[in-house]
Amino acid sequence: MDSNISPRLFALKQLATGYRRPDSRKAAKDIFSNFGRDVFSLHLMRDKLPKDVFERLCIIGRDGRTLAAHDADTVASVMKDWAIKQGATHYTHWFQPMTGITAEKHDSFLALAGDGTGISEFSGKNLIKGEPDASSFPSGGLRSTFEARGYTAWDPSSPAFVSRYGETVTLCIPTVFYSYTGESLDRKTPLLRSVTALSKQTVRLMNLIGCSDCESVEPQVGAEQEYFLVDRRLYSCRPDLVMSGRTLFGARAPKGQQMEDHYFAAIPKRILAFMNDVEQKLFALGVPVHTRHNEVAPSQYEVAPIFEPANVATDHNMLVMEVLVRTAEDHDLACLLHEKPFNCVNGSGKHNNWSLMDNTGRNLLDPGAQPWDNLPFLLILAAILRAIHLYSPIWRLGIVGAGNDHRLGANEAPPAIISACIGDNLEKVLEAIISGQDSSKGDVQEIAGTSYNLGVSSLPNISRDTADRNRTSPMAFTGNKFEFRALGSSQSMATINISLNTTVAKAIGDIVVKIEKLITEGLSGSEAAWKLLPKLFKEHQVAVFNGDNYSSDWVKEAAVRGLPNLKDSVQTLALYDTPEIIEVFESQGVLSKAEILARQHILLEDYIGRLLIEADLTLSLGRTSIFPTALKWQDKLYQAAKQAQKLVNENGPEASAWTEVRNLTNALLKSLKELETVIEVVKALEMSVLKKAEAARDQILPAMNKVRDLVDHLETLVDVTIWPLPTYADMFWSI
Ligand code: ADP
Ligand code: MG
Repeated sequence: MDSNISPRLFALKQLATGYRRPDSRKAAKDIFSNFGRDVFSLHLMRDKLPKDVFERLCIIGRDGRTLAAHDADTVASVMKDWAIKQGATHYTHWFQPMTGITAEKHDSFLALAGDGTGISEFSGKNLIKGEPDASSFPSGGLRSTFEARGYTAWDPSSPAFVSRYGETVTLCIPTVFYSYTGESLDRKTPLLRSVTALSKQTVRLMNLIGCSDCESVEPQVGAEQEYFLVDRRLYSCRPDLVMSGRTLFGARAPKGQQMEDHYFAAIPKRILAFMNDVEQKLFALGVPVHTRHNEVAPSQYEVAPIFEPANVATDHNMLVMEVLVRTAEDHDLACLLHEKPFNCVNGSGKHNNWSLMDNTGRNLLDPGAQPWDNLPFLLILAAILRAIHLYSPIWRLGIVGAGNDHRLGANEAPPAIISACIGDNLEKVLEAIISGQDSSKGDVQEIAGTSYNLGVSSLPNISRDTADRNRTSPMAFTGNKFEFRALGSSQSMATINISLNTTVAKAIGDIVVKIEKLITEGLSGSEAAWKLLPKLFKEHQVAVFNGDNYSSDWVKEAAVRGLPNLKDSVQTLALYDTPEIIEVFESQGVLSKAEILARQHILLEDYIGRLLIEADLTLSLGRTSIFPTALKWQDKLYQAAKQAQKLVNENGPEASAWTEVRNLTNALLKSLKELETVIEVVKALEMSVLKKAEAARDQILPAMNKVRDLVDHLETLVDVTIWPLPTYADMFWSI
């Protein structure tokens, strides 16, 4: 590198002289035949397995059925042959420990025959169970390091696949991860348990009201993934981005998102090549990505798939995040999944679209043409409102994280107050039911079914949706699904879906008990349900809010309604072990008390760990990079002021420029010292993990913000050619 210029300038120079054009794959002519090429799918198993083995495989899990050892051997052998044909040399149990990301340990198919020749081997035992050394994964006290046994077990409900990176092909088997004592150490196990709980309770309810064909129910989820892309050379000059995922410094760029000209704008060529590459890889992995577009902030984008069953959708979203990050490297880009990589522009979320489908293919959240007559729909709606009203801290627990705290409550993402927007029409239905009116009459149908007249005769007739969109609600009803909008972009979808499934299952269970009671009084199931509905809607209507969730009036109104406003992760996590919350998880068989306590501990430690990394980074960058730069510039200004004073007068502009930088530099030095002291204090605390997390939140965050304010101010004054970090403008507008 030219020693006379800063890394920032060097990177910009490289960028200006042309980036390596990505060797993007040609758009597949036929995405349909490429789709799922790398997946050991159900239809592949149907083709390749003996019919009886395939049939037994399809019903494992039902009524407690497990896979017999000889069947597992058959499946393993077929799976291995297929994977080797795809070029795989290794296999891995692919799991999701409490780190929030995926984990893998590769073993080759190699075994030695008696004469020393290499042969391939992969037994049913290898397929079903693995034992990674679990001592270094977060366990929250469920295991001590000297009792490090942890096991992975095959989850046949999510298909195995081969991952390809260059010439390296690996068979990946989705698995759960649990401890020697049988407690879950991952996010998949409770997700699967929550799906079972929701299915069980919903089937009970449906059967009670006469839907006897309802035998099982599965939540369906589609996640809209937002992300940022930054040129990799600039990214590499920002240790804060590399290590903490977000910029800890950075003054506002002259152009951010104020012109609203990035959202849905024509996708830049370089980005389109990247997206195409990502999609080809995901199609091969059977991930049905469907939508791509520019998002609101500069350099922000989104990808969304077609919805799938919650468990598969969660695994697929982990793959989406992995493929985005890895493919970015091939394109000299860095993909940022953090919730708030940049101040002053929107952060990134992951909208979790959620609905309930039963075994007959019926979507229980589809209101149909006459919602006021649709008893299953109304009951599920009532259960969702009940879940929000009584158990919303559990939803808030599903989205905790130091990164997401920067988003929630800011005027870009839903607030931390959980409520549902159901639209004016549905609310009218609710009100009619509550007041005992015949809701099929009156103004309920006023809007539905009408169409627009745009005054252009050549345009087709366009019918009006039953409700406008509400972009500010954390849980917005969007026609036949709810869109939960408060999940963070980097977060595993598992957590929020565990919360949704468990609390709705609990609420449905509560409703079932009430209906059963009325049945004992002589009513039929559906009579009992109709009788109950007005009471349910009346009790839980407080959870409905169709207005502007960003307004300060709503914060006051929500407080009057008694809806919790859990503003940060630490405050939320403090509630995890309260008896009411433990009861919900335990009653649905989703998490035991021991598992909850472990999770609470892990998530608090995660919070502290992230804050300390950010604080250490702020300190080291501030001291070793920003301060020396500011000092250099101060010196230059001093020389200039000295010169000028000789020539003009003591109070000339040169002198005041120097004074301003000098004062800021001195203040920076002082604030860095304060930050250092706070870091030491928090690190040395010998208290509960909760108290430590509170101290990190209350002491470290403000101390970091103080440093940041000074640095960002200095950035606007110091010679840009010596400023060490790429600026927001560099990163936003260089692609
Ligand atoms: P919207 O315009 O309301 O955002 P889209 O059709 O664009 O809706 O879908 C956004 C996401 O919601 C996609 O991932 C899509 O697959 C998913 N989605 C659509 N219908 C459902 C449903 N019934 N259940 C769950 N997710 C759904
Ligand atoms: Mg979106």
